[in-house]
Amino acid sequence: MSDPRRLGLATRAVHGAHRPGARPAAAAPVSPPIHQTSTFAFADAERYAESLSTPDGDFVYTRYGNPTNAALEATVADLEGASAGLATASGMAAVSTVLLALATPGGHVVAGRQLYGGTFSLLGGVAARLGIDATLVDLSDLDAVERALRPATRALYVETIANPTLTVADLPALAGVAADAGVALVVDNTVASPFLCRPIEHGADVVVHSATKYLAGHSDVVAGVALFADAATHRRAWDVLIDVGGSADPFACWLVLRGLRTLGLRVQRHSDSAAVVARALAAHPRVRRVHWPGLPEHPTHGVARRLLDGYGGMLAFDIDGGRAAGRRFVEGTDLARLAPSLGGPETLVSHPASTTHRQYGAGALEAAGIGEGLIRVSVGLEDVDDVVDDLLAALDA
Ligand SMILES: *Cc1c(COP(=O)(O)O)cnc(C)c1O
Repeated sequence: MSDPRRLGLATRAVHGAHRPGARPAAAAPVSPPIHQTSTFAFADAERYAESLSTPDGDFVYTRYGNPTNAALEATVADLEGASAGLATASGMAAVSTVLLALATPGGHVVAGRQLYGGTFSLLGGVAARLGIDATLVDLSDLDAVERALRPATRALYVETIANPTLTVADLPALAGVAADAGVALVVDNTVASPFLCRPIEHGADVVVHSATKYLAGHSDVVAGVALFADAATHRRAWDVLIDVGGSADPFACWLVLRGLRTLGLRVQRHSDSAAVVARALAAHPRVRRVHWPGLPEHPTHGVARRLLDGYGGMLAFDIDGGRAAGRRFVEGTDLARLAPSLGGPETLVSHPASTTHRQYGAGALEAAGIGEGLIRVSVGLEDVDDVVDDLLAALDA
């Protein structure tokens, strides 16, 4: 097979999972097999025992490793430019495994203020109870990031593109701050995907994904992946993963591998459609502001131009009329479904003020950068005119 380093990202996403290895068969299956087994039989007890103590040995028990999981780990590690990966039962299993591998009791984490809700809850809940302290900062203020660092800080945790205002993190600058302090830079690359950004190229040490979203891309599986620039951190995270038990099921990994083969096409289409939707919304009199990093007026458009190979399929917009109007809007769309999650083929809308953030008052919402009338859209793969018509009809109603 041709030198994998010279192949494009889309080619590697298609073939990475199942490149013929050292022992090419005369007729090999084109789709990777699903090794749907919990355990592996050995002839030799010694070898069985050895395999339990390393992530690189023979497959022994699926919580420790499985060929289908390994195919997913290798494929995403390749796309992200990582040395190794771990497939996990969910995005949150990837996040929690990495945090527990890096931070011990008494340790400290600095994270971006706009965090995925589950990560916010992990830091304030389980991690805090285990004695891991966290400080949330505005990542666009590098001085504030530096001031938040302590001798006990173990990780700087950021999201490439943060919801709901789609703020793009200046990864090279943040990697510089982390490296100066000897702190690991962990990047949640879920919303960008490796087709828009590969954080390790910009100095990240660890990348995490909710594979539930763009990587799998079909709203039919919950899974995650963690990718590591160095082998030592991978090893530490594997130790946590097998003990805490966040390992992925092989069939889930297979579904993600299937999704990965069209990731390049899908991300291109999501981005192209989001551009059309963003412009149509911006021209509507009831829309106050559109948040999409591809728009020149977006606060992090410059960072996005520098770091991203496209602007992605997620956008948000503020409508007049506050909470009530936002709620009426998300209940009034027809094609676009009111649901959590993102990155699937169908356009999804959500209104944080009446769902995920309904317990926030107007002040707390504003502090989190969320307007009362803010609507989040995961632009799907439908004909874009149908998506625009649906959203504009709900605005006009
Ligand atoms: C969904 C999501 C997660 C959590 O992933 P699950 O697969 O739901 O556990 C983490 N980070 C981001 C940015 C997400 O969108």
